[in-house]
Amino acid sequence: MPREGQMTQPTTTPEGLLSRRVLLAAAATLGLSACAGEPISPGQTTPSGSAAPSPADTQPAETSTPSAETPAETDTPSPTPTRASDPSWDADSRYVLVNKRNPLEPANYEPDDLRVLDLRGVYETPQMMRAEAAEACEDLFAAAAAEGLALAVSTAYRGFEHQRSLYETRYAERGQQATDESTARPGYSEHQTGLAVDLASIENPECQLGQCFGETPEGMWVAEHAHEFGFIIRYPDGAEAQEITGYFYEPWHLRYLGVETATEVVQAGVTLEEYWEQPPAPDYEHDYATDPHLHS
Ligand SMILES: [Zn+2]
Repeated sequence: MPREGQMTQPTTTPEGLLSRRVLLAAAATLGLSACAGEPISPGQTTPSGSAAPSPADTQPAETSTPSAETPAETDTPSPTPTRASDPSWDADSRYVLVNKRNPLEPANYEPDDLRVLDLRGVYETPQMMRAEAAEACEDLFAAAAAEGLALAVSTAYRGFEHQRSLYETRYAERGQQATDESTARPGYSEHQTGLAVDLASIENPECQLGQCFGETPEGMWVAEHAHEFGFIIRYPDGAEAQEITGYFYEPWHLRYLGVETATEVVQAGVTLEEYWEQPPAPDYEHDYATDPHLHS
């Protein structure tokens, strides 16, 4: 029973992004695809009391201008790096972090404010997203259309059972390792949050769910403007990024975060894990069959 209101909770103070590591390794990596299924396993990392963005402390309105540094107030905690948001482990939060180390809680979480996207789809099946993300996605499509670009929705929300069916079908065919590289386990897919969407170029159907989507006019436009609508390309290009997100470059997979956070992530040029100062999630911690989060 998710509450819509919980989707909006930007806390923050712009100011500076923390680690602005620019990771842009060029590497056409092959590997894991989050779209067919996302990541997995266990040991959920708890938000280590997530560093709360302390509102910029009131600047000392003191008039004294000592040539020396004003002694830091002893009761003033050193200002935490400010950023538009902190990661959340609440499945209903727009800031929920889902990756191979952080499954949704509960694993069969289902948003309660999903709605059908009023957009052209690749498939007949209506595609859904949570209300706020759906509106942002429609705005993004409208802006792209105004530029003469034709986008289509491949897949947006995928529920737990749908993901399980996808995962287990492939698992039976190829085994765990190969499946984990291409399909997220149920409960570990960003698509299950209702905040992710896979896009396609109508003019370039051969690039659907392919890295060449990033080279189509639509893909290039999305890379440049998605953050203006609150989305980021969740799985950036490069071997380094892949080691952190657990997935290879997916120029078509967008994750909704809201404009402020998405813009900061893009400006910092880092993965979402790095932006939120979370550990890399290259792999699941447990085998699928014994994942305590899925089989309790
Ligand atoms: Zn996807």
